[in-house]
Amino acid sequence: MSKKFRVFATCDIGEAIEMLRKRGYEVEVYPQPQAPPKSLIIEKVKSGIDGLITTLRDPIDAEIFDAGKDRLKVVAQIAVGFDNINRADANRYKIPFTHTADVLTEATAEFAFFMMGTMARRMWTAEHLTRDNLWGFWHPYLPFLGDEVTGKTVAVIGTGRIGLAFIKKCVGFDMNVLCYDPAYENHAFVKTVEEINALRHSHGLVREKAWIKYVTFEQSLQEADFVSVHVPLLREGESKTPTYHLFNERTLQLMKKTAYLINTSRGPVVDEAALARALRESWIAGAALDVYEKEPLPKDSPLRDPAIEDRCRLMPHFASAARITRLSTDPDKGMAGRCAQGLIDVLEGNYGGDIVKMPYVVNKEAFVG
Ligand code: NAD
Repeated sequence: MSKKFRVFATCDIGEAIEMLRKRGYEVEVYPQPQAPPKSLIIEKVKSGIDGLITTLRDPIDAEIFDAGKDRLKVVAQIAVGFDNINRADANRYKIPFTHTADVLTEATAEFAFFMMGTMARRMWTAEHLTRDNLWGFWHPYLPFLGDEVTGKTVAVIGTGRIGLAFIKKCVGFDMNVLCYDPAYENHAFVKTVEEINALRHSHGLVREKAWIKYVTFEQSLQEADFVSVHVPLLREGESKTPTYHLFNERTLQLMKKTAYLINTSRGPVVDEAALARALRESWIAGAALDVYEKEPLPKDSPLRDPAIEDRCRLMPHFASAARITRLSTDPDKGMAGRCAQGLIDVLEGNYGGDIVKMPYVVNKEAFVG
């Protein structure tokens, strides 16, 4: 490779950094585990870097793109969600940005599934009984019972990559599935699941044949025992069907009193004050959250209220945090590998230099024609 590219990474992405260095790249990595201040990112971009590696905690907007005018060639994000990147600004400055879709789909979906089970079967509260020496007897229903997942009805809000992978896990637990997605209904996938459900039933693996169907948002909330959210964060003006505060007092009140909410998508999709109230006043049975309106979760968050702690599981934005998923340098397996490959594609002009053909670039619309 003739040209030496300069890259700044706002976080360490493991071995993939060495992989870039071995290609002759000059890579500087922000050494702290916390996010760098925006002013530092601007300073690095101004210094004339070719590529910027970012993650979901870095606000990337016109200020950053302006600092990189004429020099910054690509922003490579290690995450599938890119709500921290202002797409309109990237397009205005004609700077492509990439993301790491697909490689984290199964890990995120399985984590959402485990969160659902952990909440419903009250595993955290149950382990506390043991650890805190409060386990005094075996009793048919004391001190409390959990709810089964098997055979129940789950609403999947957003049937994109992760939503569909989550449904695959639910099928193995004989669950009925209510799908909701205003942009695209994947009826071919529904048909496949129906065939699998029919086969499981006809071979005697299950007594009752499970079902799956697309319904309205309201119907999905009214009928589900579990509601799992798999949408991108879309604010007002970014979509005809924005997802900001999709779960609010009105929509939480549509859910059954016995139902659970699971959110591994983005925090602002759920109005946390409304959810805390819903839990305090028992509008719903429980919630399991991986993402928050403000991260890390503030000390004074109403979600930390001890009065709801046995019905509210709180994870630290951890759904994709599995070894291979996060760090494999193979772009078909790991976020780090896919992030590095997205950067390489743009900087080294792969695909004949045609950004529209580069698989990991998100804002292709800015480069058409
Ligand atoms: P995707 O684009 O494949 O799927 C998102 C789906 O949501 C699409 O089908 C879209 O049509 C649908 N959608 C859009 N607006 C909607 C609305 N108002 N109501 C219902 N559905 C709507 O994305 P994906 O790869 O499945 O990822 C989904 C999101 O999950 C990401 O954007 C990211 O924010 C989040 N995520 C979180 C973690 C984590 O660690 N917690 C990990 C990976 C992804």
